[in-house]
Amino acid sequence: MSIVMISAECAPIAKAGGLGDFVQGLSHDLIARGETLEVLLPYYDTLPLDRIAGLRVVHPDLRVPFHDHWLTCRVLAGTVDGIDCGFIDPQSEQRFFQRGRIYGETDDPERFAVFACAVLEFILQSGRQPDILHCHDWQTGLIPVLLRERYRARGFPDSRVCYTLHNVGYQGVVDVSILRQVGLDPARLMLPERLLHAGDGRMANLMRGGIVDADVVNTVSPRYAWEIQNTEQGMGLESLLKTHASKFGGVLNGIDESVWDPEIDPLIPAHFGPDRLPRKAANRQALRVRLGLQETEKPILAVVSRLDHQKGVTLILHGIRYALAQGAQVALLGAALDPEIDGQFRRLQQETATNPDCRLELTYDERLAHLIYAGADLILIPSLYEPCGLAQMIAMKYGVVPIVRRVGGLADTVFDANYSTRPFAVRNGYVFDEPTPDGLESAMSRAIDLWRRFPEYFSQLRLNGMRADHSWTRSGQLYRDLYVHLGTCKKSS
Ligand code: ADP
Repeated sequence: MSIVMISAECAPIAKAGGLGDFVQGLSHDLIARGETLEVLLPYYDTLPLDRIAGLRVVHPDLRVPFHDHWLTCRVLAGTVDGIDCGFIDPQSEQRFFQRGRIYGETDDPERFAVFACAVLEFILQSGRQPDILHCHDWQTGLIPVLLRERYRARGFPDSRVCYTLHNVGYQGVVDVSILRQVGLDPARLMLPERLLHAGDGRMANLMRGGIVDADVVNTVSPRYAWEIQNTEQGMGLESLLKTHASKFGGVLNGIDESVWDPEIDPLIPAHFGPDRLPRKAANRQALRVRLGLQETEKPILAVVSRLDHQKGVTLILHGIRYALAQGAQVALLGAALDPEIDGQFRRLQQETATNPDCRLELTYDERLAHLIYAGADLILIPSLYEPCGLAQMIAMKYGVVPIVRRVGGLADTVFDANYSTRPFAVRNGYVFDEPTPDGLESAMSRAIDLWRRFPEYFSQLRLNGMRADHSWTRSGQLYRDLYVHLGTCKKSS
């Protein structure tokens, strides 16, 4: 099969969160299965060019229809850790992808609309006939729409679209003028069963467009698939997803074990695994030195997260204070786009500046993230909603016991040490339901208490998490099956 992944992120060169890990991990798995695969990304000015092998221009002047004129784009290609990547570089005064970051610009809708148009034009003009276009999140929601409205007739009638929803909290609700800019007819599309955003007749919802026009739609855990069809977590998409239920499902993400494996991770000082767990202590010590935490007999509670409302920031702030009061150390690594949330964490950082048991690193730092997973004992993930969550799976692989709220993919992967109905051998963490200080404390106190009073049971929990299979092997096969199924539909239609 020939597969084109179209995404705003791909780790390690363009990552803001789990989407970057997903595209890297699934791509590696599919390539290992012998599939032909290419990832198409914007040519961000933040790309670390030294990590892209053989970078070259493959199309110097791709002409893309946009906003009543032709926009010229360069297309570059190169290989990143064995994955062939193509990069779209619009030549425009607006410097769409030269902003020093991936997201968070006021013209994000226009930036990713240009990307969507350029991707299809590139595939068309280069004569590719991909079997599968795999699109991700709102940034690529226009691609299935453009394909149906325009491109299928022009060039690649047989390509099928798989559309993955990584987070319906961001749907790409944009001014209707974006549709005109990409040459689509608002009169045809601004209908409740197409792109019309519920409750506002002037706004188009790009994720709705992707859901309606893709051949198959999925999200990143079975539990989140249920939640977004049946609860307010669907954020207005519930009935649309139910309408399209026959082509919608949930596939749990995996973690890329060429990147996240404490037995071989080049970014940590001491390699370890379930058969040599005591070696984790050297990483704990290195983490304390790196962060300036005192060397002491206390468990280290980690937070590695985007600091976003979704992640339960109020609960994270409460959890840090509670952990310190319970005699734990805290290592937080997180970055906030929202200035108000950033301010809350900066105040706590100042408040705890002289506390030798607490460090808050308010930045994005891939290397430090690896060291924190390697050195920590507990990780706190009190999300209000969580489509899948990779942090808990990575943490478990590194022998860290997760404390999570029972939502989305967290509920699918973390099984409570005391209350799960599953066998003891697969229980791997602590789970709470209510997004309140009481709910959080009930789980945190049980976890810290076990660490202190029953270290051998605590080690057993660590080992249960480390031995669980969170690799891409199973889910990669499921995606491959999905693609094959789409190919079969193509032949019979
Ligand atoms: P989301 O996609 O919602 O951000 P996930 O748990 O699915 O959450 O994935 C988060 C990924 O981003 C993990 O690989 C995590 O280690 C990483 N990450 C989050 N915040 C940071 C940070 N500040 N620095 C480095 N890595 C981070």
